[in-house]
Amino acid sequence: MRFISDGMLGKLTRWLRMLGHDVHYYRAADDKKLIEIAKSEKRVLLTRDLELYQQAVRQGLESVFVEAEDESGKLADLANRFGFKLEVDLSVSRCPKCNATIRAVSKEVVVDQVPEATSTYYSDFWKCLGCGQVYWRGAHWKRIEKTLEEANSKLEPQ
Ligand SMILES: [Zn+2]
Repeated sequence: MRFISDGMLGKLTRWLRMLGHDVHYYRAADDKKLIEIAKSEKRVLLTRDLELYQQAVRQGLESVFVEAEDESGKLADLANRFGFKLEVDLSVSRCPKCNATIRAVSKEVVVDQVPEATSTYYSDFWKCLGCGQVYWRGAHWKRIEKTLEEANSKLEPQ
């Protein structure tokens, strides 16, 4: 899906990109600009600002007032509303940092860009076609899966 999120939703933005969604994020854009972009690019506006949410809805935009405090709650609310899956498939993920697409690459391509231990222990790598960031399912991956598990447990029964 295509979203645009306000400056308070940086973390959620990274999660949604990992799940494969196209999310624009402007840390400092004002309300008018966010609404303008949402309109012209047909993006769903995500915000924690009730006033901005109401303004968007009045203008006929699809918008979500993000209320949950934790990331798993936010993700579950969005998945309930839009019906997308809460699973990371790196072949469709976008770069959490810059929103560009990432691509699987061989170890040789990234060996100079990751710690030696990492290139020794891991063999699957992905690289962002935008900013060049390299990704792998490292030790942090367990935390990612745990958050998604929590989020999945908060889904409403279909
Ligand atoms: Zn990137």
